[in-house]
Amino acid sequence: MSDQKQPTCALCGQEISEEESDFCLANSGRFNGQVFCSEHQKRFSACPAMRWQPGGRGSMH
Ligand SMILES: [Zn+2]
Repeated sequence: MSDQKQPTCALCGQEISEEESDFCLANSGRFNGQVFCSEHQKRFSACPAMRWQPGGRGSMH
Protein backbone atom coordinates (compact mmCIF):
# COMPACT_ATOMS: atom_id res chain seq x y z
CA MET A 1 0.00 0.00 0.00
CA SER A 2 2.48 2.59 1.13
CA ASP A 3 5.16 2.84 -1.48
CA GLN A 4 8.09 1.92 0.60
CA LYS A 5 11.36 2.66 -1.05
CA GLN A 6 13.07 -0.58 -1.73
CA PRO A 7 16.79 -0.46 -1.04
CA THR A 8 18.96 -1.44 -3.98
CA CYS A 9 22.46 -2.81 -4.33
CA ALA A 10 25.00 -0.06 -4.96
CA LEU A 11 26.82 -2.28 -7.43
CA CYS A 12 24.19 -4.03 -9.51
CA GLY A 13 21.08 -2.01 -8.64
CA GLN A 14 19.08 -5.09 -7.77
CA GLU A 15 16.48 -4.70 -5.08
CA ILE A 16 17.50 -6.07 -1.73
CA SER A 17 15.61 -6.88 1.42
CA GLU A 18 15.44 -4.61 4.41
CA GLU A 19 17.47 -7.17 6.31
CA GLU A 20 20.29 -6.95 3.84
CA SER A 21 20.33 -3.18 3.84
CA ASP A 22 20.20 -3.18 7.63
CA PHE A 23 23.17 -5.51 7.71
CA CYS A 24 25.15 -3.24 5.43
CA LEU A 25 24.25 -0.14 7.41
CA ALA A 26 25.20 -1.90 10.62
CA ASN A 27 28.58 -2.59 9.03
CA SER A 28 28.83 0.70 7.19
CA GLY A 29 32.53 0.83 7.88
CA ARG A 30 33.03 -2.27 5.83
CA PHE A 31 30.57 -1.33 3.11
CA ASN A 32 31.52 2.34 2.87
CA GLY A 33 28.05 3.33 4.06
CA GLN A 34 26.46 1.76 1.01
CA VAL A 35 24.18 -1.22 0.75
CA PHE A 36 24.72 -4.28 -1.39
CA CYS A 37 22.86 -7.41 -2.35
CA SER A 38 23.88 -10.61 -0.59
CA GLU A 39 26.04 -11.59 -3.53
CA HIS A 40 28.05 -8.40 -3.50
CA GLN A 41 28.19 -8.30 0.28
CA LYS A 42 30.45 -11.32 -0.01
CA ARG A 43 33.00 -9.30 -1.91
CA PHE A 44 33.37 -7.01 1.05
CA SER A 45 33.09 -9.59 3.78
CA ALA A 46 35.24 -12.25 2.17
CA CYS A 47 38.54 -10.71 3.11
CA PRO A 48 37.92 -9.98 6.81
CA ALA A 49 36.03 -13.25 7.17
CA MET A 50 39.05 -15.14 5.93
CA ARG A 51 41.09 -13.79 8.78
CA TRP A 52 38.69 -15.27 11.25
CA GLN A 53 38.88 -18.74 9.87
CA PRO A 54 40.93 -20.89 12.21
CA GLY A 55 44.16 -21.87 10.57
CA GLY A 56 43.04 -20.48 7.25
CA ARG A 57 45.17 -17.49 6.47
CA GLY A 58 44.42 -15.70 3.22
CA SER A 59 47.02 -16.70 0.70
CA MET A 60 46.70 -13.32 -0.95
CA HIS A 61 48.12 -11.32 1.93
ZN1 LIG B 1 24.65 -6.49 -6.17
